[in-house]
Amino acid sequence: MKAKQKKETIKKGLLIIISGPSGSGKSTIYKEILSRNSNILGSISVTTREPRGAEIDGVHYYFITKEKYFELKETGGLLEGAKVYGNYYGTPLAKVQEQIENGKDIVFEIDIDGARQIKSKYPNAIWIFVIPPSLAILEERLRSRATDTAEVIERRLSLAKSEIAYSEMFDYFVVNDGLSESIKTIEGIIEAERHKAYLMTDFIKKTYLD
Ligand code: ADP
Ligand code: 5GP
Repeated sequence: MKAKQKKETIKKGLLIIISGPSGSGKSTIYKEILSRNSNILGSISVTTREPRGAEIDGVHYYFITKEKYFELKETGGLLEGAKVYGNYYGTPLAKVQEQIENGKDIVFEIDIDGARQIKSKYPNAIWIFVIPPSLAILEERLRSRATDTAEVIERRLSLAKSEIAYSEMFDYFVVNDGLSESIKTIEGIIEAERHKAYLMTDFIKKTYLD
């Protein structure tokens, strides 16, 4: 009886999306948020791209074939899916559903297309858009990361401008100037979101009204 009561009062977990132009710092921030907050879970995506460097299947991504990707998509196994820079990426649905039902907060580091799909299914998902302080700084960061050719960097810069044009759809903008400031800001957003009134209705009802 006690266990049942406890389960009933568990709040659903939050879906927290971190997206932004390539080079804005979203994957650095995503990793830091996860390593600093053991109560926030990450989501392991599937991808059709080849593993890079020390990437491990089932840790960084689930590396799958295109056939498997489309099979998953067609059978409703993905929460969202998108083609990003020529490869397919997607978020496995079952794990997300299980975790939010158990009250766990999940953070996603995904592209704009995927973020829009999550927002349309879960309107309360929190969409945080990370932007660099300027296009010049974005360019500098892409160059110093040294993972892309000059041509790819050019394409990423022009894509960044078109992504920022979707700004009215984002819930929060975080200008990633100092990294530790950005992380603190995002942790603050998550903490505030946990106190949204709609999440407290079950608690209020059981504590004060029943
Ligand atoms: P994204 O995942 O958005 O493509 P990354 O996390 O790979 O971006 O960051 C791009 C580069 O910028 C990396 O070399 C990273 O170390 C660096 N970086 C990220 N945030 C900052 C920051 N606040 N100040 C300076 N460099 C940063
Ligand atoms: P990378 O190949 O460098 O790991 O990731 C490339 C891009 O794919 C990044 O912009 C990242 O945000 C995006 N991405 C990673 N996983 C997913 C996912 O599951 N869904 C979507 N829509 N985008 C993803």
